[in-house]
Amino acid sequence: MTRVYNFSAGPAILPEPVLEQAAAEMLDWRGSGMSVMEMSHRGKEFVSIAEQAEADLRELLAVPEGYRVLFLQGGATAQFAALPLNLLGAAGSVDYVNTGSWSKKAIAEARKYTTVNVVAEGGTGDPMDIPPRADWQCDPDAAYLHYCANETITGVEFHDIPDAGDVPLVSDMSSTFLSRPVDVSRFGVLYAGAQKNFGPAGLTVVIVREDLFDRVSDRTPSVWDYRRQAEADSMLNTPATYSWYLAGLVFQWLKREGGLTAMAERNERKAARLYAAIDASDFYRNPVAPGARSLMNVPFVLADDSLDGRFLEEASEAGLKTLKGHRSVGGMRASIYNAMPESGVQALIDFMAEFERKHG
Ligand SMILES: *Cc1c(COP(=O)(O)O)cnc(C)c1O
Repeated sequence: MTRVYNFSAGPAILPEPVLEQAAAEMLDWRGSGMSVMEMSHRGKEFVSIAEQAEADLRELLAVPEGYRVLFLQGGATAQFAALPLNLLGAAGSVDYVNTGSWSKKAIAEARKYTTVNVVAEGGTGDPMDIPPRADWQCDPDAAYLHYCANETITGVEFHDIPDAGDVPLVSDMSSTFLSRPVDVSRFGVLYAGAQKNFGPAGLTVVIVREDLFDRVSDRTPSVWDYRRQAEADSMLNTPATYSWYLAGLVFQWLKREGGLTAMAERNERKAARLYAAIDASDFYRNPVAPGARSLMNVPFVLADDSLDGRFLEEASEAGLKTLKGHRSVGGMRASIYNAMPESGVQALIDFMAEFERKHG
């Protein structure tokens, strides 16, 4: 068996010990004589898996009292619609920051339900940057303020949590969730699809402050109704049981690895090394302002883009896979989520130096 270094943006690399454990438990989960996939979601075995996963996630993130953790389906994309449906209440508009493609998708979906004020535009230009908080045109009567913590496609990441005053702050954390500690108490809602940094596709974690439940519109589809799902322990209907189980194994792996502080140190080290290699060369370039560079998704372009195909081919031969940039921006993108070992980042850096030596 050969495992490659997989730099996919998502579905993405998972920790090997997690995959091994899932394989070992595949046919007979802990003496149950069944695979987790075959279990009733209401049986005591699966309920114990679900409860353990939530407890571990709460511990990792230090989720405060007064917040509910939901394990839903539909991806972050479903949340783009669920947010206005759940949170608009009596308000007449919502505020969104636009820092790139995922912000835009969230804005377009929210516009189906209400007036969206785009309070700041960023993530464009050269270098790409995040507009300073002081320049945002926020409305104190907005139902909430939404931002995308990490734009997966362009690699533009917020390195601190913006101040939202008394307006509930909402964040799409899909590609940065669990990469470092986050002060959950600063948020009304945060949400993340599992397939970037903590599990297989099909699962979306939503963490929501309970006092927001009284805003939920009656027209919200039940499966995306935060209050109803909280009351049903995310089992209003059949949840994504296997993805939930696997995410639970990732949470346990994160705890064994030292939790999110240790993860943050490792992620900072990996990203710093890769950006340093890119910056030290005229052959490669990252187009993001240093203060807004993503720790998880590192896009880079070759000075001579006619070498792009060659780069991807030779990288693939060297066991470095899925480095092609998103079709909307071209170039390359290395996603270096929690599960990407430091040896994988070093292998990429070594390959890049060798490729430059041969073709530069
Ligand atoms: C991948 C991604 C999404 C979309 O996730 P789906 O699970 O495909 O709905 C939304 N936001 C961000 C930041 C992402 O990285």
